[in-house]
Amino acid sequence: MASIKLAHVTKAFGAKAAVNDISLDVSDGEFLVLLGPSGCGKSTLLRMLAGLEKVSSGEIHLDQRRVDTLPPSARDMAFVFQSYALYPHMTVRRNITFPLIMRQFRWWFHLPLLGGWAKRRIERSPAVRDLVERTARTLALTEMLDRHPRTLSGGQRQRVALGRAMVRQPEVFLMDEPLSNLDAKLRTAMRAEIIKLHREVGGTFVYVTHDQIEAMTMGTRIALMRDGVVQQFGAPREIYANPANAYVARFIGTPPMNLLEARIAPDGMVQVGPLALPLPVQLAGIAAQPALLGVRPSALTLARHATDATLSGQVVLVEHIGAESIISIKLADARTAHRDEGAAPDEIMVAEPGYSALRAGDPVRIGLDLRDAVLFAPDGSQRLTARPAASLAVAA
Ligand code: ATP
Repeated sequence: MASIKLAHVTKAFGAKAAVNDISLDVSDGEFLVLLGPSGCGKSTLLRMLAGLEKVSSGEIHLDQRRVDTLPPSARDMAFVFQSYALYPHMTVRRNITFPLIMRQFRWWFHLPLLGGWAKRRIERSPAVRDLVERTARTLALTEMLDRHPRTLSGGQRQRVALGRAMVRQPEVFLMDEPLSNLDAKLRTAMRAEIIKLHREVGGTFVYVTHDQIEAMTMGTRIALMRDGVVQQFGAPREIYANPANAYVARFIGTPPMNLLEARIAPDGMVQVGPLALPLPVQLAGIAAQPALLGVRPSALTLARHATDATLSGQVVLVEHIGAESIISIKLADARTAHRDEGAAPDEIMVAEPGYSALRAGDPVRIGLDLRDAVLFAPDGSQRLTARPAASLAVAA
């Protein structure tokens, strides 16, 4: 059993807080993903959990035990790094066995003959052999136990690194972007293996990534970070459906959610450019005010001809990605509010199933399905809800 509790954890490097007053409760057996862009503090938070970095203030508890004052070896957590950190001169078997040898380490293990004999003795003991071979079977490494890391592919090396963490049978697995050195296809395969591993081995997993697809597919819950602060902490589906602010809305989902400048009218309609649409039931009752309307690319439909309830625009780019086409459109009569890098002004993205026949330059009409739409304050800082704001899962 290992639940993790972070209470007001802060890490400052000089005057800058890399992690700023983070509090999270992670249940036993959870797969927590720390997600965010480069430099948001997710690795620093993981390193504090592992004990590789001291907290500046706050506390970390593993079950009922306070651990932030303990050395890494006393925390019962196994760390898997992005760079596999395998010993090149050791076989796969010895690499996986290594943590078990270290458990029984004596100073004279350093002596060449005596040390070699003692290490082999541990490696060949029935209990250790059995555990290492069972682990190798789980990770499909049985055939490779006598090979050296340099003869393995990136994916196989990462599996050895996972094996080395598994034989320790820790309460908590900590993983820092373990798949980022792998190519796209292998990443997908390893992603599935780690999900399976979590299911089979149990234990609490904390996994750092900047890849929102990894976060959405692997996490039981996600803590989405920005500038050292948790923007939202919740289940993937909750974060996708009910983003706490415009930043979260744009970070989760590919292509990102479109944000349109809008105004909620007193009569329960929302005005976007020349278009007035009735607010869907989940947004009914929000007071009249300016707002940002968030609509996913799949909730927009394109037509060549004008109908009443459409905006107008012109196709800028069509990307065919197999099952669907992603169409970028410059709006003629409404404004966007995307503030992130790389987003062109007043351009939205529409996802259409199949192979679109549209071409750059085509004039189009855009219909909005607001059933799953969300509304934000005009500065994007918070989601507007008809319910009390306290029901939002904002941890920041
Ligand atoms: P990445 O995905 O690029 O690894 P990250 O979200 O894991 O990013 P961190 O590595 O935790 O981010 O870094 C957070 C901030 O703290 C960054 O601005 C980084 O430059 C700074 N930082 C991290 N370690 C140190 C250190 N030892 N000394 C000074 N600043 C540091």
